[in-house]
Amino acid sequence: MKVAVIGGGAAGMSAASRIKALRPNWEVMVFEKSSFVSHAPCGIPFYIGGAVDEFEELCAYDVDYFRRERGIDVHTNSKVISVDDGSVTVEENGKESVYEWDRLLFATGSRAQRLNVDGENLDGVLYVDDIESAQRVKIDAIEAENVVIVGSGYIGVEMANAISRLGKKVTVIEVRERPLPEYDAEIAAIIKSEMEKFVDLRLSERVAAFDGQDCVERVITNKSEYRCDLAIVAVGVLPNTAIAEGFVDLGRSGAIKTNSRMETSRENVYAAGDCAESVNVVTGREDWIPLAAPANKMGYVAGVNMAGLELHYPGSLKSQLTGFKGLEIGKAGLSENEALREGYEVVSAFITSRTSARYLPGGLIHLKVVADRSGKLLGVQAAGNDVAMRIYAASALLYNGADVKDLFFTDFPYYPPISRVWDPLVVAARNLFRKLGIP
Ligand code: FAD
Repeated sequence: MKVAVIGGGAAGMSAASRIKALRPNWEVMVFEKSSFVSHAPCGIPFYIGGAVDEFEELCAYDVDYFRRERGIDVHTNSKVISVDDGSVTVEENGKESVYEWDRLLFATGSRAQRLNVDGENLDGVLYVDDIESAQRVKIDAIEAENVVIVGSGYIGVEMANAISRLGKKVTVIEVRERPLPEYDAEIAAIIKSEMEKFVDLRLSERVAAFDGQDCVERVITNKSEYRCDLAIVAVGVLPNTAIAEGFVDLGRSGAIKTNSRMETSRENVYAAGDCAESVNVVTGREDWIPLAAPANKMGYVAGVNMAGLELHYPGSLKSQLTGFKGLEIGKAGLSENEALREGYEVVSAFITSRTSARYLPGGLIHLKVVADRSGKLLGVQAAGNDVAMRIYAASALLYNGADVKDLFFTDFPYYPPISRVWDPLVVAARNLFRKLGIP
């Protein structure tokens, strides 16, 4: 049996490794257009900010490891340029080669959304979508004095954090009225005030053009102009489906439509990771969730099914963690705005709480819990200290369809230096009791 995997990132290498573990005698080929596999784009901001010295450190395993230890036929610098029934055409070593397959996986990831404004192709206007672009950003960032970051989604926020760590003057321009627009206003306000201590944060401002002689010198917005010698654009990502279009069906999100076995509309063809659509566990509806942990698991599930066994991917909660300076930020499930857009009748509680007993030093957490009128938990967001452990707990509850009473009665452990006898999650649930008529 011959298996072809397009893309050697999280999803592709998880799938290839699983197939080889279950079917050691099968031939598994991975085609990766860059020189790296099993790279970790999530580590890019830490590489650019200097916390990681060499970008090779971002690769979980090197190519030789996969060839030698796992028996995977890895082709790097090999770009798949077209897909047909039973074969792929690959551009490698300056020529086109055709490889046959019995089972095929699309694991092509996502790509940075372009701004499509004048001057976008000037030198010094960069996107961060892979390890190779990260190398370029790092070189330019070290030279630069003024850096403009366009977009304040989590990648923009993490890039702002990284570049300000290098001691550069950073301006962040965001078209919406708050940073991290996926979060509700109460949580975004905390993030905004932390960011404003370190960067020039310009909200409700739209970039109209980049300007300069040979390389970028100014970013022009609908309100002002900003001098810069590097502009990093981070305005969102899109599923990378170019070679899949017309061969398999795409879903409403534009990502490849899959079922819970990660099968596409075409027999023996699978898709996993950022290029694939899956299910949002909270809403039960199709969704596009381009994050690393789901990508790995989708790849794992695709690998099992491609090997002829059966495993189902239940979907994801869009659980996420990020940070800016000392502030931890996280979210699982839906924000209030997202829940309203999905048609839920929403109740919510926003609290600020200490994270240790009052007689010991500790931090603060700002936390918002969203539920529907029946009490079903829809989402939790937080910013401050000790956010991760609460988003982990919330993720487990949301995954299991918990309600507000479950959140209240879950037996979160108490130890004075690091938690509260009434945990912030429990206090927020108690606030929701009042709104839901629970005594
Ligand atoms: P990728 O890892 O993108 O791999 C796809 C691979 O396919 C690439 O190597 C690409 O070169 C290759 N490819 C594409 N087309 C072809 C072709 N035609 N032929 C051959 N090869 C091809 N997620 C989190 O959960 N947490 C984080 O903290 C986080 N931080 C991030 C920070 C940054 C700066 C970025 C850019 C992303 C971050 N993500 C984070 C998202 C996370 O990296 C992705 O969700 C994850 O990498 C998706 O894995 P994947 O295998 O689907 O795609």
